[in-house]
Amino acid sequence: MGFLRQDCGSFTEAFRSASFVSGLEMARILVVEDEVKLRNALTSGLTEQGYEVVAVDDGQAGLAMASDGAFDCLLMDLMLPGCDGLEIVRTLRSAGDQTPMLILTARGEIEDRVLGLDSGADDYISKPFSWAELLARIRV
Ligand code: CA
Repeated sequence: MGFLRQDCGSFTEAFRSASFVSGLEMARILVVEDEVKLRNALTSGLTEQGYEVVAVDDGQAGLAMASDGAFDCLLMDLMLPGCDGLEIVRTLRSAGDQTPMLILTARGEIEDRVLGLDSGADDYISKPFSWAELLARIRV
């Protein structure tokens, strides 16, 4: 089994019809994840949910992309080549970027690295996570 638990079919249906009824514009999400399987799963899953997804595999590329592009949400791994997720958040926040930012972490990393640091991220998601959890936290 991979990183994602496909356990929320009814949620997905409800989400789809809600999006359809409200007629919201497609939200753009930047995914920064170096694990290819998870990156591909996030890209295809979020695209299926109606999001426009841009995915990169490196922290520097993610930071550059986030600085240039207009995104409604940033979803990034904590441990990344180039620069890590917390560094991306801090850099963008200090430049005044108010985009919602979510950080994916492996279990254990939150306690060690994140708590007590005021990185400016909006939320943290522990891997493995479910689609329901992820979509509820994206909120865009
Ligand atoms: Ca990683």
